Amino acid sequence: MQKALFLDRDGVVNKDKDYVHRIKDFEFQEGIFDLCRMANHQGYLIFIITNQAGIARGYYSERDFILLTKWMLNDFRREGCFVSKVYYCPYHPEYGNEKYKRVSAFRKPAPGMILKAAKRFEVDLASSLLVGDQETDIEAGINAGIGKNFLLYNPEKKKQSMDSRAIGIKSLQEVVSFLALENKIES
Ligand SMILES: [Mg+2]
Repeated sequence: MQKALFLDRDGVVNKDKDYVHRIKDFEFQEGIFDLCRMANHQGYLIFIITNQAGIARGYYSERDFILLTKWMLNDFRREGCFVSKVYYCPYHPEYGNEKYKRVSAFRKPAPGMILKAAKRFEVDLASSLLVGDQETDIEAGINAGIGKNFLLYNPEKKKQSMDSRAIGIKSLQEVVSFLALENKIES
């Protein structure tokens, strides 16, 4: 069994600008590559798990999302980070056409994307980490049984209250510090 780092995308990997779907709007968050290099180095698999209801809403297509994802993963590789897989949920319970309007077990706060990754990659969720910027991320992590769930403060989401089960952080650097400490204790 392997441990993993689960990352939300918008607001964690990249700055949250609402329904980002173009390369020119995709701005990597400060510290994301440091975090991923360190996580990889310490034996964590990395997964990105992202609700993409902009697809259901017709703001952009699944193809747009995939093209942006390929570009993003290329940048991760260039920075020496290996992301095992990106899971996304294009559905929305209220918006979209026949294909996309549905209640989905993959849409956070449901834990479907995390459980799918855990099954396929044999991940020990209790020793895994999640970083999100919304309570739905934290809920998904807790619902899946992830051991530590970090809630990154997002200045764009003004009404962000703190779930008592989340570990509140102001920057990704705090997760890097957590990993550094963990490494020290284990070695
Ligand atoms: Mg987010």
